[in-house]
Amino acid sequence: MFDCAIIGAGLAGLVAARHLVDRGLSVVVLEARGRVGGRVENKILNDGSYVELGGQWIGPGYDSLQEIIDELGFETIGLPASGNLVVRLRGKSLEVPSSEELPALTPFEVSDLGQGLLRLRRLSQRLRDDAAWRKANEAWLNQDLRRWVTSNLRTQGAQRRFGEVYAAAFGPMPKDATLLEGLLQVTSGIDLETMLASNGGLHQKRVEGGVAAVADAMAERLGDVVRLESEVTRVDHDDTSARLTLAGGEVVEARQVISTLPPRLAVALEHNPPLPQWRIEAADKVAPGNVIKAFLVYKEPFWRDKGFSGQSSADEGAVRVTFDTTADTSEHGHLMGFFEGADADSLARRSVTLRERAFVDAVVRAFGEDGAKPIGYVERDWGAERFTGGCHGAHFAPGVWTANGPLLAQDEGVLHWAGAEYASRFNGYLEGAVRSGREAATRVTRSLA
Ligand SMILES: Cc1cc2nc3c(=O)[nH]c(=O)nc-3n(C[C@H](O)[C@H](O)[C@H](O)COP(=O)(O)OP(=O)(O)OC[C@H]3O[C@@H](n4cnc5c(N)ncnc54)[C@H](O)[C@@H]3O)c2cc1C
Repeated sequence: MFDCAIIGAGLAGLVAARHLVDRGLSVVVLEARGRVGGRVENKILNDGSYVELGGQWIGPGYDSLQEIIDELGFETIGLPASGNLVVRLRGKSLEVPSSEELPALTPFEVSDLGQGLLRLRRLSQRLRDDAAWRKANEAWLNQDLRRWVTSNLRTQGAQRRFGEVYAAAFGPMPKDATLLEGLLQVTSGIDLETMLASNGGLHQKRVEGGVAAVADAMAERLGDVVRLESEVTRVDHDDTSARLTLAGGEVVEARQVISTLPPRLAVALEHNPPLPQWRIEAADKVAPGNVIKAFLVYKEPFWRDKGFSGQSSADEGAVRVTFDTTADTSEHGHLMGFFEGADADSLARRSVTLRERAFVDAVVRAFGEDGAKPIGYVERDWGAERFTGGCHGAHFAPGVWTANGPLLAQDEGVLHWAGAEYASRFNGYLEGAVRSGREAATRVTRSLA
């Protein structure tokens, strides 16, 4: 019997295993896929360079992941190019200089922005600490973030700067986010002031070789602790141990279990005794997002010569955010974009050619006609991945976070939960996965003591 069985060899599972093995415990990691990494994965291109199909950006506050990156001897690389960010609003392009060159705000605008941020910080604290207030103000918390910004920041300069940085850091424009989402982003990551001071917010650095290479290196160190092609289908548990049944019928016994599956996949496994109803209902409302991450490969990164950073965001079109992700080892230029939400839902049913064309159109709108002739297109539809069930991370439906969010991470006897969606900080992100894996390992060690 193992001291601990871990379901899933994504970052959370690998980190948990690493900590438990370091403490001298016997561990097995059961991974359904034929590879480790889960939502981080590299695709090697014909020229030998790679693109990262899943999570790739790391930013301020990613201390736990950075520790692993350093320990394993990986380097990080910054945003590839300086140059202007393109923001497209109502059919018009606005070029925003990268943050070092952002136009200075007037003292009045700075103070306005400061007041607004202070108010946001107070609200996010209240959201975290006062459950009764959260419930009573649910409808108000679900107003669109732009409405809150325009009624709480008085100057247009401050409102604009807030919108630009929020979109660059988190993806959606304030009009496409709710106040609640904004507050969760602010509380779950580094404070917004740091974001405002950073070039690109969370999207600051990536790992040379890709985050998937970090996962591979962790798995290599763990050796035969990690078992691939080992899908867990059933969990029987009592007060002292658990028996995990694999798809082929094999049974693995362990004194403790860490499940690192996203909530919906986790509760879909057969559990005996059954999981509490509230957990099943909450998991059902933690809908996985739907994202197709796509890359256009160009003969060279033409946008750089034109003074663009390759970063763009738009309020229309199927691809609304782009980044330059050209690998240092690549002979060519890579632009990354996302099909998200409803666009991903409808375009996932159409042809690859159509999606490629939609992406090309977005690049042409942002960076001009040179974008019309890519030499390659790569994509990964995460919604179609059976062992992920949607991405980036899960979206908490209104009321679910306020009612049950933090509870989701609570242990059920010998069953522990880890993974990006269970993290109290950096929820949904790489850093959240790492932290939650480490914290689950600590709880397991305590339970075994
Ligand atoms: C397109 C995309 C872009 C992203 N970009 C970023 C980014 O730039 N920065 C950032 O911080 N985050 C990003 N994220 C989020 C980040 O990748 C995830 O939060 C993180 O990788 C999740 O790790 P995890 O270990 O919690 O879960 P997972 O990686 O999902 O790991 C769960 C593992 O469980 C396995 N599994 C599933 N079912 C079973 C079963 N029945 N039996 C056994 N094993 C099973 C899966 O195969 C998987 O390996 C992105 C995600 C996506 C998809």
